[in-house]
Amino acid sequence: MTEVSEAAALIARHMPKWPAESVGLASATDRVLLEDVTAERDLPAFDRVTMDGIAIRFEDFASGLRRFTVSTTQAAGVAPAKIEDTGACVRVMTGAVCPIGADTVVPVERLTLTDATATIASDADVQQSQFIHSRGSDREIGSRVLAAGTRIGPPEMAVLASAGKASVRVARLPKAALISTGDELVGVDEPIEPHQIRSSNGRAVAAALERHRLATYQRIRLRDDASRILERVESLHEDSDFLVLSGGVSMGDFDFVPAVLEKLGCELIFHRINQKPGRPMWFGLSGEEKPIFALPGNPVSTLVCMARYVIPALRASLGLRDERTMRVVLEAAPSDSPRSMTHFVPVELDWTATGRVSALPTRINTSGDFASLAGTDGIAELPPDPEKRQVGAVVDFYGW
Ligand code: AMP
Ligand code: MG
Repeated sequence: MTEVSEAAALIARHMPKWPAESVGLASATDRVLLEDVTAERDLPAFDRVTMDGIAIRFEDFASGLRRFTVSTTQAAGVAPAKIEDTGACVRVMTGAVCPIGADTVVPVERLTLTDATATIASDADVQQSQFIHSRGSDREIGSRVLAAGTRIGPPEMAVLASAGKASVRVARLPKAALISTGDELVGVDEPIEPHQIRSSNGRAVAAALERHRLATYQRIRLRDDASRILERVESLHEDSDFLVLSGGVSMGDFDFVPAVLEKLGCELIFHRINQKPGRPMWFGLSGEEKPIFALPGNPVSTLVCMARYVIPALRASLGLRDERTMRVVLEAAPSDSPRSMTHFVPVELDWTATGRVSALPTRINTSGDFASLAGTDGIAELPPDPEKRQVGAVVDFYGW
């Protein structure tokens, strides 16, 4: 039986790297940047005025001068004016280029202004270079401002725009086929018999992929019919980069998925993990080395396997760098932890009380009790060692 960390490592070792693509900035949010980006210009690109006020020569102030002659007004976006004479100043606005010859800005709050003059308050404390954000003081032209492997969030987007990158190289979103198997499954909008259930796994898996922005997908529902599953998996596999199946991987008479995958020539990497829930998970590669995740159909098991294995594997495969697992403090110990195996428990996180992130386990009836997952944040991974799963233990957390 494969242990949890071993299963994750085996998946990581067999995940492909998909090629990059270029996208415009408008569709780059949350994508994984796959190029280093350098500063197009110095940052800031010029000595930038940071307060509305006047720009002066500090030496005039140092010599005792307080009343300055306003030579002109300079807004942001205008080429710099010049201070030629002793005692002259330029009225400047935030974002303006520091006028040539000036080296200090006095904010308007410390001034008495007329049309022609600006008088600095007698008690004003003025330091040389104040309120000037000097050219290149943040980053120099050509220096790296973003590294490949970064997810593009709001700050990264600002940096890309500042670097004049109208389009960027990002990880292409791989195409997934999400296949739910089961004779009992009925769609969300179809009539339903008492002995049937609505299929929820396909939607849940899709939501995980969407939330993490890791793949595009199509959803397919199949009956427990070995030849039909074989035929559909074969064709769906052709235009997908990876497959996620749910259901049919256990020991039942109608659990055809592992046999079908084998018949298709897929390479089994592992089947069954020493964990609860989600123990029957199957992972392998198609003949074309495309990953196939065959997850148990119990809805809690499906989502646990997504959070613990599929999502992290995809994140790494798309090139995200510096992936770190979140660690949380276990607030309560579940009473029903199985012995000698990893126990994944759904938890709600809280950090308001102590500033440390604590995880409060939610009780679920069985791994079919998906209703109790609603409102939880993800799963805590309780190791097999009973010492390491007590209240107060620091454990790994995986978000939905
Ligand atoms: P299986 O893994 O096929 O043995 O299914 C285990 C349990 O999960 C059964 O009770 C199934 O009815 C249920 N199940 C399987 N697939 C789905 C699905 N797509 N949506 C909701 N429940 C499912
Ligand atoms: Mg089934």
